[in-house]
Amino acid sequence: MASVTVIGAGIAGLSAGWEIARRGHHVRVIEADRIGAGSSGGTVGALAPHAPDSWNIKKQAQLESLLNARTFWDQVAQVGGRDPGYARTGRVQAVTAADLPRLRARIEGADRHWQGAARMWLTQTRPEGPLVPESPEGWWLMDDLTARLSPRMAGAALAAAITAKGGEIVLGQPARPDAMPGPAIWATGAPGLAMLGEDLGRKIGQGVKGQSAALRFAAPDAPQVYADGLHIVPHADGTVGIGSTSENSFEHEDVDEQLEDVIARARALCPALDGAEVLDRWAGIRPRARSRAPLLGEWPGRPGHFVLNGGFKIGFGMAPVLAGIIADLVLDRRDRIPEGFRLQGSGDNPISGT
Ligand SMILES: Cc1cc2nc3c(=O)[nH]c(=O)nc-3n(C[C@H](O)[C@H](O)[C@H](O)COP(=O)(O)OP(=O)(O)OC[C@H]3O[C@@H](n4cnc5c(N)ncnc54)[C@H](O)[C@@H]3O)c2cc1C
Repeated sequence: MASVTVIGAGIAGLSAGWEIARRGHHVRVIEADRIGAGSSGGTVGALAPHAPDSWNIKKQAQLESLLNARTFWDQVAQVGGRDPGYARTGRVQAVTAADLPRLRARIEGADRHWQGAARMWLTQTRPEGPLVPESPEGWWLMDDLTARLSPRMAGAALAAAITAKGGEIVLGQPARPDAMPGPAIWATGAPGLAMLGEDLGRKIGQGVKGQSAALRFAAPDAPQVYADGLHIVPHADGTVGIGSTSENSFEHEDVDEQLEDVIARARALCPALDGAEVLDRWAGIRPRARSRAPLLGEWPGRPGHFVLNGGFKIGFGMAPVLAGIIADLVLDRRDRIPEGFRLQGSGDNPISGT
């Protein structure tokens, strides 16, 4: 039985910790602050697939993760006794007639690459659900692969599952690599990208700020909506998550008036949300690697230390597959890191078409 330390109690670190505990090993998660203190403590939780045309390795890895998600989250719920708020409720988008040729190519991509496990389709029949946006030209694009997960419920559920398997979670303890024996997995989000860059003497990535909200509106089984660049996600707990802004430069890490614009746009798109109480306004800093892809591998120059980072905008969707890949690497020295996700001595691996 190995004993592994994971640094960072965000979705990446907790998922890796759970995967190691699930395989029968001892895990200790060390977190500077609290569970979900970084970008994993928000309100949106859309597990939405990349567009299935122009297929690439990143899309394949994400597909595997989305298809594994139900088993992954069911097991977490069963072992820890807490609901992560996962359900594959699908997604609806209002589209225009001008979009149709491009969308038909996308649907062909879904038919080819989603292995019959999920479907994307166009419809002129208004889909059911209280949040479905108006479509002036009467077309909607649907899929049944998209799922939702409550970020905060998922963090609590993973922590409970790790503890139920005999793992430890230590909160309020910042860690430094020189003071930490291996094996150790650094899942430290945006601050971790900065720390790694400082250690390696080159830029590894940056933090990208995002703001989101939670509104009181119960539609737990309704499909989520993607419209005007916004994710509008009904959750299990009677809330609807709305997001997000994407800010490469920012003066502070708190919410500001840009979030009010997001809320107003969401209400305009989904009139049922008009008058729904805003329960929470939230901001977080996403970890974006230079490649924009997840970043995994051994920390160059620090044997026994590993990096799991770069979740950027899809960290929740990618968590099941990335947890398995890093656990294989750390526990079994089995390297199945997809090309383009690998942390190397010399730089990033740009992936096209994402
Ligand atoms: C507004 C917004 C909306 C989003 N919506 C979605 C979405 O709908 N779907 C989706 O899949 N993704 C979404 N994302 C992206 C997702 O939130 C991130 O990809 C994910 O949270 C990254 O998780 P992480 O565990 O790598 O990092 P983080 O959650 O940032 O966790 C890192 C943790 O490490 C801790 N830490 C840092 N340094 C140290 C240290 N030295 N010692 C100990 N602990 C340390 C931090 O306190 C933090 O808790 C969204 C992000 C934002 C901001």
